[in-house]
Amino acid sequence: MKKVGIYTLVILIITIILPAIIVKTFNFAPTGDGLQSNVANPKVINKEVKEEAEFDGYIAVYDTRNQEVHKIALEEYVKGVVAAEMPAEFHIEALKAQAVASRTFALSRITNFPEGYPDHMEASLCTGIHCQSYLNLDELTSLQPKGWAEKYWPKIEEAVDSTKGQVLYYNGEVIEAAYHSTSGGMTEDSIDVFAMDRPYLRAVPSPYEEEAPKFRSIVTLTGDEFINKLTSKYPGSNITKDNLSEKIKLVEKTQSGRIKKLAIDGTVVNGREIRDLFELNSTNFTITYNPKANIVEIETLGYGHGVGMSQWGANGMAKKGQNYEEILKHYYTGVEIGQWVIDN
Ligand SMILES: [Zn+2]
Repeated sequence: MKKVGIYTLVILIITIILPAIIVKTFNFAPTGDGLQSNVANPKVINKEVKEEAEFDGYIAVYDTRNQEVHKIALEEYVKGVVAAEMPAEFHIEALKAQAVASRTFALSRITNFPEGYPDHMEASLCTGIHCQSYLNLDELTSLQPKGWAEKYWPKIEEAVDSTKGQVLYYNGEVIEAAYHSTSGGMTEDSIDVFAMDRPYLRAVPSPYEEEAPKFRSIVTLTGDEFINKLTSKYPGSNITKDNLSEKIKLVEKTQSGRIKKLAIDGTVVNGREIRDLFELNSTNFTITYNPKANIVEIETLGYGHGVGMSQWGANGMAKKGQNYEEILKHYYTGVEIGQWVIDN
């Protein structure tokens, strides 16, 4: 009976006192059942409460160009990222989806790597594509064609201001909101690309990408160039023009059809290695050899790692009438959009 009494007390503490603490100090209110999930994992809540309580609306960003760390207001940073990462000509709902994804990506980095990211311990985020590209308005004005700022900056501001503080959560935790240019028709599961299992980064169809300039690309080499590149990377392999088709074998595809593993003369290599070696747009590739012409053609679909939101897919969905919430919930499985309160 004593044991039951202790359990009852523990349950009482969890069900009464903990939610009281959450209501008092926890800033975000997920639209769905996120709060329920938080109760089941008080450790996570405490971490986020602490970080949100200390968050003053400014983030530290390591500038990869001059190796300086700048404090930038989060919402200003998001504007610079949206402008650098997505064509401003895109539909406003796609830009809004990008704003939420970029804000989420930044806050996830800050939450998970508060002491600095392993590749740049100076800050949790950098200005390069390594994290997500960031350009301030002066830089954008000098890089973009004349008149760009007058025409498009108000649109960028609208996309960011109208989604101010909005962040994607899964089970009450800020997600790692990966995104890419063009999926090629189907996004990729995080386990197949980053070797990390994230329930919200699953392979989903991505229709309406046909307008993307890199939806389909072809790299052409002579048979000799192709073999030289392969044998310089894999010196032990015995590949000639005569045995080419027998020596390169598909071992495994990902569920979305990208090349996960290939065998090069019996050595198993990752599709990503081949992507890097031939500078392909994605791992969704097909290699064809024409011995008569001595030409190798590598056709790729999509551009980027394929995980999370496809930017061209987002624009396609927006043009079909879907709003940014529908776009985000399509590409990030099972997420909720919540509010991250910023004190400024
Ligand atoms: Zn970085």
